[in-house]
Amino acid sequence: MTKEETAEEKRRVGNEVMERVIQAMDSFYPTPDKAMVWLLKFLQTDLSKLGPTNFDPLRYELASFVWHGPPELPRINLAVAKPWQTHVYDRLSIPSLKEAAAVQTYVRNLLDEFMQEGKLSYRIPAMTKFIARVPRFVKAGKHSHIDPTLPDTFWMASSVRDALIYYFDRLLDRFALNLYRCPSHDRYGNVCRKIFLSSRHDQKYCSKRCENRINARRYRLVKKAKKHKAEKKKGTHERKGVHRGTKRRY
Ligand SMILES: [Zn+2]
Repeated sequence: MTKEETAEEKRRVGNEVMERVIQAMDSFYPTPDKAMVWLLKFLQTDLSKLGPTNFDPLRYELASFVWHGPPELPRINLAVAKPWQTHVYDRLSIPSLKEAAAVQTYVRNLLDEFMQEGKLSYRIPAMTKFIARVPRFVKAGKHSHIDPTLPDTFWMASSVRDALIYYFDRLLDRFALNLYRCPSHDRYGNVCRKIFLSSRHDQKYCSKRCENRINARRYRLVKKAKKHKAEKKKGTHERKGVHRGTKRRY
């Protein structure tokens, strides 16, 4: 292979990787809500059950999440951050299954404690603050401008893992009061318990599936009660008041 061919090959691989990282962004863009939904999904995914074909997109999503940061939140600078184990291109790296599982366990425990106790105290990983006596360059969506009233400032994480924990912290701050555990259960009484972001104030279940399950059961109960009532009426002698305590109105 000539020198030009190697460079060409390198560029091709680089473009491919970048495309995957940008594609992975779709999973958590363009709103902070979507980023929180993505994070909750990652935290509650059983990684041990994911085969390589399913883990591969997820590791790019994780890498992309840390690389770009959730929308509308201040980005963490990764210039000096210890990367994920698997280097792919330029300064970009992706996590191994072991690394993904380790950070998942750590953050998941924080989230579980918060949901269980209703409160949480934890240490934010140490980060380096950078501030310069020059006006800030502000990026807002596709537009950017210089804000002369604010200094240029940012945080530098010492590892990509720390950056992920920091983003979890920012998102938890924003959505703490909108997180719930799904109370839906199957006919054997197994409760779903999935933690979800309630985007509407009347959203009680994690998914349409869980909501339908409860609605279907309620419907069957109503139907049964109505049938029971009709049969009783047909009977020769209706005993009034016997079932008063258990009678329900719908
Ligand atoms: Zn559920």
